[in-house]
Amino acid sequence: MNQTATPAASAPLWLLAELTYRCPLHCPFCYNPVDAARHGPELDTETWLRVISEARALGAVQIGFSGGEPLVRDDLETLVGHARGLGYYTNLITSGVGLNEARIAALKEAGLDHIQLSFQDSTRELNDFLSSTRTFELKRKVAGLIKGHGYPMVLNCVLHRYNLPHVAQIIDMALDLGAEYLELANTQYYGWALLNRDQLLPTAEQLREAEETVNRYRKLIGTRCRILFVVPDYFEQRPKACMNGWGSVFLGVAPDGTALPCHAARSLPGLDLPNVGEMSLEKVWYESAGFNAFRGEAWMREPCRTCDEREVDHGGCRCQAYLLTGDARAADPVCAKSPHHGEVERAVKFARRVTSVEERPLVFRSMAARTDG
Ligand code: SF4
Ligand code: SF4
Repeated sequence: MNQTATPAASAPLWLLAELTYRCPLHCPFCYNPVDAARHGPELDTETWLRVISEARALGAVQIGFSGGEPLVRDDLETLVGHARGLGYYTNLITSGVGLNEARIAALKEAGLDHIQLSFQDSTRELNDFLSSTRTFELKRKVAGLIKGHGYPMVLNCVLHRYNLPHVAQIIDMALDLGAEYLELANTQYYGWALLNRDQLLPTAEQLREAEETVNRYRKLIGTRCRILFVVPDYFEQRPKACMNGWGSVFLGVAPDGTALPCHAARSLPGLDLPNVGEMSLEKVWYESAGFNAFRGEAWMREPCRTCDEREVDHGGCRCQAYLLTGDARAADPVCAKSPHHGEVERAVKFARRVTSVEERPLVFRSMAARTDG
């Protein structure tokens, strides 16, 4: 996969620093790679500081600190302070585990702008079951800390078959915690979520009811809390404009320094992804084979190549195209024009037959290397 059809690339706007794959939680919908344990050691502080500086010099204006759980790194405050000093808008994406009074005060002092806290559900039972930890009460306490330190309350809950029927209660919980924003993001099927797809995919009825509930609440609460409802693309007829186009605005860096044009890019076999430990970020972004592989349109096959919607969705997600068709240059099979669209319809139909976790147990995220992932 060494095609280098390179239209003039614009600068990256968004740096996602995946500081670690370590996480105390075990969500079965985690988007981290299932073979995370096989990847190399985490970048050290000095390298992250350089990466953050180089990305800012290239033009990035927002930085997200994520993982795994970024709070397991004890240099998080140093990295946040460095990024803020360079003028980034800084975001922490966290499960809340590890966020105590001392750390939130230090992060505030370092200039952290924004915290996004994830919940698995509105009930202790399901939150704790899905994360395989007793973290529900802790997350509620962390929500109080975030509020207490003057941050806007931004909650995130990944939706799937098990918690979609609780959407109203999840919104009530968010209101009770004083959330200004609630992101209800239906599961995207990569990493552990793909492994558990048959157990997690909802029914169309569940989705319709959840969306109606969200719309009802939107009318009731107005601007008190903004609710974002991200529909799972398996139920759509057109794919999402993944990353707004490959190598267009998004630059991810994995814990071992692998630079990623999209969260799941390391699932594409044969893609020569650069490592930030071996070359400057400028070379990574503008010159590396990995970042040029799917820039522009020269890589497209039919039906995308001549489709009049290709500037809208850029042919969809390359990783989803590969994972479902075996060809990273194919149209994203979510698209009804794709000859592989039946794969998506079959997955939705098949998932309906799996009716309980007893019938097909969920595989919970762990750092033990999987060889079949
Ligand atoms: S999805 Fe769950 S397991 Fe994965 S990084 Fe987030 S909190 Fe950890
Ligand atoms: S054929 Fe390709 S470009 Fe056209 S709508 Fe479908 S995915 Fe998008």
